[in-house]
Amino acid sequence: MRLVDSHCHLNAEQFAGDAAEVIAAAGLAGVERILVPGWDEASSIAALALIGRFPRLAGVAVGVHPHAAAEVDPAAWARIAALAADRRVVAIGETGLDFDRMWSPADAQLANLRRNLALALATGKPAILHCRSKVGERDAQDALLAEMRAAGFGGEASRDAFGSRPPAILHSVSGPVDYVEAALELGCAVSVSGLAFRRGEEATAESVRRVAAERLLVETDAPYLSPPGAPRRRNEPEWVRVTARWVADCRGEDPDELGAQLVANHDRIFGRAPV
Ligand SMILES: [Zn+2]
Repeated sequence: MRLVDSHCHLNAEQFAGDAAEVIAAAGLAGVERILVPGWDEASSIAALALIGRFPRLAGVAVGVHPHAAAEVDPAAWARIAALAADRRVVAIGETGLDFDRMWSPADAQLANLRRNLALALATGKPAILHCRSKVGERDAQDALLAEMRAAGFGGEASRDAFGSRPPAILHSVSGPVDYVEAALELGCAVSVSGLAFRRGEEATAESVRRVAAERLLVETDAPYLSPPGAPRRRNEPEWVRVTARWVADCRGEDPDELGAQLVANHDRIFGRAPV
C-alpha cells in the first residue's frame, strides 16, 4: 500500500539521534511523503534544517501550536511569518486550539490562531489545525469553526487564495461528526491519526466515512499518538500503515486504491516542495 505521513514531528528531540534510520524505515513501509510541521520558532527552523538534510521529505510547515501561543511574542512571530515565504514551506502550522490541556490561556490561543489563519490566506499555504476539547465537550471545535468563518475560510478570501484546493487540514481529526461536516463545507481536508483508536474518539469512524475521497489524508503525529501495534514510547512514520488500513476498512475501500489516492491528495493539497 502506498502511504503518506501528512504530519510527523521528525524535528522533535526524540528523533535527534536517528532521523535517517526512521525515514529509511518509513520508506521501506511504503511511506512516500512526510510533512514535518513546526510548533514554535525553533521547531519551524529545525523542520527546514531537516528538509535540507533529507530531500525525500515532502515539505515542512511553519507556525505556532496553541500550547506555545502565549510564548511566541510578536518579534518571533514576524520571523516565523518570514520563514513562510520559503518554497519548501508548503503549509502553515501546526496551529489551532487546545481547550483540553490549556497550556496557553484561551485568549492567547485565539489571537495566535488568527495570526496563523491570516498567514495561510496571505501565502496560499493551507493551515494545519490541531483542535482538542475535554472528553465529551466541543468548545474548541465550535470556536475553531467560528474563527475560520470570521477569517474568510469557506468564502471569497479562501477561494481567492486557494482556488479549489483545501484551505486547511483538520490534523489528527477529533470531535463530533457534525463539526467535521461543517469543516468539510468550509473546504477543509481531514487527516486521520492514531488518536482515532482512543476511547472517546469513536465518532471518528463515522467522520472518516463522510469525507470525500480526494480530501482524505493520514498521519502519525509522531512521536505522539501511537496506533495499536506501534511502540508507545515513540511513534514513528512507518506506523501510519496501521491507521491507513483502518481508514480503508472503515470506508470499505481497497487499501491499494486508497493508498494511491492518499499520495495524489498529499501532492494536490500541499504541492511538492522543490528538492
Ligand atoms: Zn502535531
